[in-house]
Amino acid sequence: MEQNNQWQDKQDIKSLELAELTEAMVQMGQPKFRGKQVYSWLHEKRVESFEEMSNLPAAFRQQLAQNYYINSLSIIRKLTSKIDGTQKYLLRLKDNNCVEAVLMKYKYGNSVCISTQVGCRMGCKFCASTLAGLVRSLEPSEMLDEIYTVTRDSGQRVSNVVLMGIGEPFDNYDNVMKFLHILSSPEGYNLSLRHLSLSTCGLVDRIYQLAEEKVGLTLSISLHAPNDEIRSQTMPINKRYPIDELLEACRYYFNKTGRRISFEYALIEGVNDEVRHANELADRLRGMSAHVNLIPVNPVKERGFKRGSRQRIEAFQKALEARGVNATIRRELGADINAACGQLRREYDQQRSQGREEL
Ligand code: SAH
Repeated sequence: MEQNNQWQDKQDIKSLELAELTEAMVQMGQPKFRGKQVYSWLHEKRVESFEEMSNLPAAFRQQLAQNYYINSLSIIRKLTSKIDGTQKYLLRLKDNNCVEAVLMKYKYGNSVCISTQVGCRMGCKFCASTLAGLVRSLEPSEMLDEIYTVTRDSGQRVSNVVLMGIGEPFDNYDNVMKFLHILSSPEGYNLSLRHLSLSTCGLVDRIYQLAEEKVGLTLSISLHAPNDEIRSQTMPINKRYPIDELLEACRYYFNKTGRRISFEYALIEGVNDEVRHANELADRLRGMSAHVNLIPVNPVKERGFKRGSRQRIEAFQKALEARGVNATIRRELGADINAACGQLRREYDQQRSQGREEL
C-alpha cells in the first residue's frame, strides 16, 4: 500500500493561522509579507506542493519543504446518489486512518458535512461512528482538507459547512476553533461562519466557552430525548450533563449570541417517538427560540434500533407544533447510498482488518 511518511519529522504548515505562519516565516529570516503569500497558496489557491508556489524564491521553497509538509487527503471511495446527486466520500488521512465527508446539493448552494475525529468516544447507542471508540482527533489541516478535497473533486465551491460527520467537535475544541478561523479568513477559503453549523451531543462547558468566542456559527444540539431517563439510556453524556443543565447553557448561548439553536431529534420507534414524548419535549423547550429537526433514525445493524412509520413521525411533528415548537422533518438526501454516519468507514476498516481492501 502506498504510504508517504515524509510528514513524520516535519511540521504541519496548513494548520497554522495567518499570524502564526507569518511569525514562522519571520523566524526563517523572511520578510513579513511571505506569511500572506504562503497562506494564500495553501488556502486560497490550495496547491499541494511547495514547488507550485511560483512567486517564492527557489531556495526558500526548498527550505520550506525541509521543515514543513503540506497535508492532503486521498479519495478512497466515492458514492454518488442517483436520486439527488449527493456524494459520499471516504477519505484517507496521512497515517492511513480514514474519515467520511458528504457533499449535498441544495437550491441555495453546496453543503459539505465533515468529520472532526477518527471515531468517537461519546458512545451514543444509535450511532455507528462510536462503535469502535475514538482513534484520534483531526488536525485543523485535515478538516480543511475535507472541504478542499471535495471542492477540487466536484469542481464546485462549497457555501455551507456542517460539522456533523464522524466525531464530537467539542471533544476536539482547540483544533476546531483553529479550523474555523482559517476557513473563514478572507485570505483563505473565506467562508462566512453564518453558513456553518456545529453539532454537539452536549458538552455543556464547551457551549459556555463557545458563547464567548464571537464566531457567529449555528449551534445544533443532539437532544434525541425529552427526559433524562431516556436520554441517559441512549446518550452516556447525559449522565455528566443532564438536560436541564444543557438547556440552561443553550439559553445562555442564545442570549449571548442572538443565534437561534437547532435541536436534533432522531426518532427511534418505541424509544422516544410517542406523542407524549413530543408533549414533554415541547414543555421543556417552551419560551426558547429553538427549532427542532426531526430525523427518522438511520438503522445501524449493530444497534437494532428501528425507524417508525411516516405517520408516527408526522404525528410527533404535529404535537410539537400544536404546542408552539417549530419542527421540521429532515429531508433525506442520498437515500440510495445511505450508510448512516460512520458506516462507510466502519465497513472499510472491518474489510481492511480482514485483508480485503476493495469495497
Ligand atoms: N458528535 C456530534 C456530531 C456528529 S453526529 C453530535 O453528537 O451532534 C451528527 C448527528 O447525527 C447527531 O445529531 C447524531 O446524534 C446523529 N446520529 C448519529 N447516528 C444516527 C442515526 N443512526 N440515525 C440518525 N441520526 C444519527
